[in-house]
Amino acid sequence: MQQNNYCLLPTKNGDFRMYDTGNEMVRLICYGDILKQGNNPLLRIHSSCIASEVFGAKDCDCADQLNESMKMIATERSGFIIHLHQEGRGQGLSNKIIAISKMQVENIDTVESFEKLGLEHDNRSYHEAIKLLSSYGITKLRLISNNPRKRKALENAGIKVETVNTNPNIRPENKDYLYSKNLKLDHSLPLDTIMNETSAIHFYHSDQVWGELSNFSPHPIFLKNIIWQTVEHYYQAQKFRGSNLENKIHSADSPMQAKEIAHLNREKYNSEKWQEIKEGIMLEGLRAKFTQHPKLKKKLIDTNKRHISEHTNNDYYWGDGGDDSGQNRLGELIMLVREKL
Ligand SMILES: [Zn+2]
Repeated sequence: MQQNNYCLLPTKNGDFRMYDTGNEMVRLICYGDILKQGNNPLLRIHSSCIASEVFGAKDCDCADQLNESMKMIATERSGFIIHLHQEGRGQGLSNKIIAISKMQVENIDTVESFEKLGLEHDNRSYHEAIKLLSSYGITKLRLISNNPRKRKALENAGIKVETVNTNPNIRPENKDYLYSKNLKLDHSLPLDTIMNETSAIHFYHSDQVWGELSNFSPHPIFLKNIIWQTVEHYYQAQKFRGSNLENKIHSADSPMQAKEIAHLNREKYNSEKWQEIKEGIMLEGLRAKFTQHPKLKKKLIDTNKRHISEHTNNDYYWGDGGDDSGQNRLGELIMLVREKL
């Protein structure tokens, strides 16, 4: 591993670094310096899936998980991803093509297909990832994963592991696949709570299930005679009203970037005063969004009395803390907007 050999990797999810691991089959991207990741870093060990990650295939959740991991890491402003070149749960691309074709022709699930072909269900090796981790002296980490075997492999190598679940992005094309992962491969994707129509609604990432509720969702709003790309742009810009930063945030490429600009300039606004008005500003932005987009308005009204929460352990104020220990102010404000629609 050449720790000095890296380049910047600006992505839609934030600015990462891509490091040279000395092995083309093992890729490493990191938010910040790989040697300054703290004593309990956030990590995704990800096995490649060319179909979804490169070509945009919709019938699995690999690219979604990678994308969500990048967002979690960018939100925390720390963490890294080890991307391993191992297709088809370690069976290689040829076998993967045969197995998927069999699934499609015979209308069977992924586990049955692997079985019929005499393939191990999960033949992935985490040896290279573990080697990298030990080279940084990492003995404890938070693993972004729903896969018990991945956790076990790290634990067997003497690493203390806490898992952080990823929320699946369910589509008609991948629904059966996700269910069979839970049923037959012991994964822990929270599918039932998402599909159940009276249960509480959890949202977080703007491109996942119920993501339209997020202040990061790509729904422009018209407020103060200006069109804002997202509620988040509007919200962050109000911290710097009348200054150049307001304009800079207004034209930020993404809500993530809008937030980033505000964060970098946090010394320049009166944060005490902001605490008093921030909920009012957020409410104003949300109200504009749900009244100015008729389809969205209908979708929110149709949630009836379902409880809504921003589900994340990254935020105990706007979010629910991941386990209802947070205040869920964003969810509360959305429910308040719903009452008046
Ligand atoms: Zn895939």
